[in-house]
Amino acid sequence: MDKERLTAREAGLLNCLDCHMLTTKRDGALQMRCPHCGARLHLRKSNGMARTWALLITSLILLLPANLLPIMTVTYLGEKEPNTIIEGIEHFIQSGDYFIAIIIFFASILVPIFKVAGIMLIMISIQKRWKTWLKHRTLMFRIIKFIGRWSMLDIFVIAVMVALVNLGTLTSITPAPAATYFAAVVISTILASNTFDTRLIWEGA
Ligand SMILES: [Zn+2]
Repeated sequence: MDKERLTAREAGLLNCLDCHMLTTKRDGALQMRCPHCGARLHLRKSNGMARTWALLITSLILLLPANLLPIMTVTYLGEKEPNTIIEGIEHFIQSGDYFIAIIIFFASILVPIFKVAGIMLIMISIQKRWKTWLKHRTLMFRIIKFIGRWSMLDIFVIAVMVALVNLGTLTSITPAPAATYFAAVVISTILASNTFDTRLIWEGA
């Protein structure tokens, strides 16, 4: 092995994923804890790839009912009208609420697809042992992880709308089944990005 290009693993170093402190690996130690924050240390997360794939496939399956079932029921003058996400967006465009329409489009359609497709692309690139775009792929994964915490945005929008619209007497909005599936998609993609180990991106190369 070229001494100038030794990886941390080959140099006997372990990185703490919680506080990012670098520790020297003790020989023969089965389980090590971070001397700084006490978190368990692993060279690689166990079964990382299999768990991430399972959670990604779960997210893909859940995306179907989340988008095809009604996410809210609008009752206007006693007439009930279930709305899917897409119908909801059309509804807001027609009534001139472009800002809400854009937020819902980003949070409910673009972001979940970007997240699932992005993690899948990174996983495939590891299995195919691509040696290029290492920094870009790591950066893409960090972006996906960062936006994870914002993906409940449209659930909040629906909650706020339910509260606002129900103040009026003629129209009322209630959440419908897709809202539950949507929340499940958000949770499974967040878990998928948490079980994934970015160090695998670099290991293949
Ligand atoms: Zn630590």
